[in-house]
Amino acid sequence: MDKPTIFPPTRASLPKLAKIQGDDRCVLTVYFPGSLAGGKKMPTKLTELPTSLLRAESLTRDEDEHRRRSLELWRAEVPKVSLPPAMGWVGVVSWLTEDVTFMQLPAAVEPAAYLDNSPFLLPAGRLLDDLEAYAVVYADHARATIYVAALGKLEEEGRLRGGIKNHVRKGGWSQQRYERRRDNEIHRYCKAILHKLNEVVESEGLRRIVLAGDRILINELEKRMAPAMRKQVVCRLAMEDKKDPREVFQETLSAAAEEERREELWLRDAIRNEHAAGGRTVVGPADTLAALNKKRVRWLLIGPMEGVDFWRCGSCGDNGLGQPPTCPDCGEATYAQSAGNEFTDLAYAGRSRVEFTDDDLPEIDGVGALLRW
Ligand SMILES: [Zn+2]
Repeated sequence: MDKPTIFPPTRASLPKLAKIQGDDRCVLTVYFPGSLAGGKKMPTKLTELPTSLLRAESLTRDEDEHRRRSLELWRAEVPKVSLPPAMGWVGVVSWLTEDVTFMQLPAAVEPAAYLDNSPFLLPAGRLLDDLEAYAVVYADHARATIYVAALGKLEEEGRLRGGIKNHVRKGGWSQQRYERRRDNEIHRYCKAILHKLNEVVESEGLRRIVLAGDRILINELEKRMAPAMRKQVVCRLAMEDKKDPREVFQETLSAAAEEERREELWLRDAIRNEHAAGGRTVVGPADTLAALNKKRVRWLLIGPMEGVDFWRCGSCGDNGLGQPPTCPDCGEATYAQSAGNEFTDLAYAGRSRVEFTDDDLPEIDGVGALLRW
């Protein structure tokens, strides 16, 4: 048995978690609040949490064995991990594949446990989408700090000194020389900030940048950005006085949420327009499911999908939309799954991007996608 794995809390981890799969219900997923989730109380010790939450109804004999063994594995392995301070966690365990994995979440979550043929990643995916990490440059002429906003706070990634003085009136030639020298200093300072910012954006796989601080310096920075990086700037916040990281984080949050919303709307319109033009898109549960199964989906847009039924056969693993009481293939009993989670798991397994929205998306029948081919 390997040591439990802690995956980084980024989108790139979701396909790795989605790989933990079986033919029947053998994968245990556990959500629980972290040490920083003030107010969220655990009903019992973490080692006993899934045991207290899981209901064992309607499991086949094999599945009940999976349940018992996975709970045992959880009990044995959880005491061996030291989980860093966090808002929330999701754990995925399978005794069949001997996987014991954890991923930090950017928000507090209610305790919950699921036993299914694949991990229940819908809440985790949704949180990582809604609270996507972004870079913040907080700078004036004297100093600059580069942060990553993730997991409910700002993490400092780098600090640079500008030490650039204000304009001084001298007059004549000496004034001109002074100005030229100052321009060069600003240029070098901006280049150094952008170099560090680029490193952070690349290494953390960030898509969004917020510029905050002195308005003139922010302009100077933006002027010197490569076009690709300039496209990633989602907001510019002039901040006059020196602020601590918590204040900067609070002020940038709503800008990030707006950008997230804007992207949802963009994708919805793109799917709708492409569909009307007969382009490479699908809309509605049936066509989207078919495209997901063929790994054709480039970018999935998924609403709450309430009222969409999904079934799976505990015996032969056959599955699909609808709610047949017995498996059309083998005649054994079926059970209901979350359509939203099945779509999401298939998307992660097929390396599709997933965009979540609280909208019902009536114009695309609840779900849709841009396709690769
Ligand atoms: Zn069956």
